[in-house]
Amino acid sequence: MTKKPVNKNTEWFDRPDPTGESTTGEVGLRFTCTQCGNCCTGPTGFVLFTDVEAKSMAKDVGVSLESFYEKYTRDTIVGRSLNEVHIDPYGFDCVFLTRDAESGKTGCSIYHSRPEQCRTWPFWRSNLIGKRAWREASEGCPGMDEGELHPPEYIRLTRDRVDI
Ligand code: SF4
Repeated sequence: MTKKPVNKNTEWFDRPDPTGESTTGEVGLRFTCTQCGNCCTGPTGFVLFTDVEAKSMAKDVGVSLESFYEKYTRDTIVGRSLNEVHIDPYGFDCVFLTRDAESGKTGCSIYHSRPEQCRTWPFWRSNLIGKRAWREASEGCPGMDEGELHPPEYIRLTRDRVDI
């Protein structure tokens, strides 16, 4: 007897209207960043990166790799992370987070060389375990469930780029 092919497209976000927020029958998850900065501040956290990413960030900042490691990174229990700066009243800002006082919007001073951890938010494995994990993450990220619709295949490919 021949084996039935495994249908890989059976994750919760493969179903129409996965978050239950709409009834249009659309498939996939919506996300467009509003530049609120929540994901780059708050309680102390980690922004992990690879050596290749460190080289790229150092070049972007205009310092040697050695200086980059010394000035902008620190050792943590989960690996080498970008540094944070405590800014009242927000919390611990990523060292590369920028704030525009007039618009209230935030940015990233190394946007073009930012690590995969930042590029792949919010399509992290930990946020995609199920609908509840997605909903909990969306409580701190107003860009989730809004804006551009990302199809399941894009979500899977993005999720597989980092192990978070
Ligand atoms: S929390 Fe979400 S909306 Fe706010 S800056 Fe981060 S990704 Fe963008």
